[in-house]
Amino acid sequence: MLLPNSNKRYIEEAGIEVISKVRDDSSPDKYSKSNFEINLEQNEVTCPAGHITSKYSYDKDNKKRRIRSYKFKASLCNECLHKDKCTKSGKGKAITLNYHEAKLQKARQDQQSEEFKNLYSRRSTVERKVSEEMHRHDCRQARWIGRAKTKQQLLLAAAMINFKRLGKIAPLVLMPTE
Ligand code: SF4
Repeated sequence: MLLPNSNKRYIEEAGIEVISKVRDDSSPDKYSKSNFEINLEQNEVTCPAGHITSKYSYDKDNKKRRIRSYKFKASLCNECLHKDKCTKSGKGKAITLNYHEAKLQKARQDQQSEEFKNLYSRRSTVERKVSEEMHRHDCRQARWIGRAKTKQQLLLAAAMINFKRLGKIAPLVLMPTE
C-alpha cells in the first residue's frame, strides 16, 4: 500500500515510524521527475542528458505553499535528442520540487536499504489482517461516537480475528502426532 505523502507526514509527526514506499513516478515511455538528479544542497538539478540548471522560479503547490520550479533553457531542450521523452513544451523543461522534497529524497534513499526491505516484506501479513477488520468485521466506520468506544470496537474485532485464527491452528497444534 502506498500512503499519500501528506498522510505519511502526519503519522510521522505523531511519533509513529511509517513503513511505506514513496510513490514511484517512473514510466518506461517518458522521463519523470525521478530521472532528474536533484541536489538540494548545491541548488542544482541535472537532467537525463547531463545538463545542469540552477535557475528556478517560485510556484505554488495545491496547498498554496511556495515551491521551487527549476527550468532548463528552451534552446537546450528544443535541440535535445531526449526531448520526445522529456517534454512537449517548447519553452523548456521544468522540474517542480515537492514542498517536502528533502524528506522525499531521504525516504527514497532509505527504501533501498536491506532493513527497510525486510520490514516492508512483513507489511502484507499485517495488511491482510487490517483488510479483514475492514471488510469482514465492518470496521471501516466507527459504530459509536468517541475515541474510547471506537478503540473498543477495534479491539473486539481484533479479538474475534485472533479467535478465528486460533480455531484454525489449534487442531493442527493439538492433533496427536503418530
Ligand atoms: S529535453 Fe531538456 S531537460 Fe530534457 S533531457 Fe533534454 S536538455 Fe535535459
